[in-house]
Amino acid sequence: MEAGFKCERCGAPLEVSPETIVAICPYCGFPNHVSGNLKTENIYIVPTIDKNAIAKAFWNRVERDFDLKRMKERIEIVDIEGHYAPYWVGSVHVGGDVEYMVREEECHTDSEGETHCHTVERHYHDYVDEVLNLIGSARRQVKSFGVDDIIHHYSKARPEGKRLLDLDEDQWGKVKLEILNTEMDETQAKMVMREDAVDVVRSRYSAKADRIDRFDVTADEPQNVALVLLPMWTVYYKVENSIFHTVFA
Ligand SMILES: [Zn+2]
Repeated sequence: MEAGFKCERCGAPLEVSPETIVAICPYCGFPNHVSGNLKTENIYIVPTIDKNAIAKAFWNRVERDFDLKRMKERIEIVDIEGHYAPYWVGSVHVGGDVEYMVREEECHTDSEGETHCHTVERHYHDYVDEVLNLIGSARRQVKSFGVDDIIHHYSKARPEGKRLLDLDEDQWGKVKLEILNTEMDETQAKMVMREDAVDVVRSRYSAKADRIDRFDVTADEPQNVALVLLPMWTVYYKVENSIFHTVFA
């Protein structure tokens, strides 16, 4: 922790590490720009449900899980912890050419009624032209703009974010959760997004092709880039003498 950083709005001391890009004031909630390239007006927060609702969601999951349901009577919630984690979201246009080969089995029946099969190599040429919606952690230890549970959840549910600067004191009182440090600024996030967008396309072709002959796909500058704070809850529960935990987004 470096001394000397104070909230721009209320003057409260801020906890800032060398990696901090934006520090959310624990008192008034103001997003203070500490380092890097970032527009604080582009920070969004997704409101969370409360602890009781998380407990309810946990018991619902127990009901729906065959193994957990059988030991329901022996399960006890020990603790529920929540925090906000920062994610960069944006859309990236990818375009280019891919040439690839797929081995396929081809069969035909001859005049004697016998079936002959052999493997043929089919060649394809695709033109890639699409927009990918990406989300990735703004924290260094958890990267990946491509695949993740939370990405899946977020892109499916598309929760309505609210601009952080628009939250009033009343709403801040409800947030109450710790907000994890943002460690990647907008310039860095955009760079990673472009790399990951190309990787998403590449892995799609690696999965379906037997050989990629040409891969010439590039990503444009990411659009609609915003920092989103997403609520994450961890439920710790006990079964006999063992403690387990499960995460809710
Ligand atoms: Zn403040």
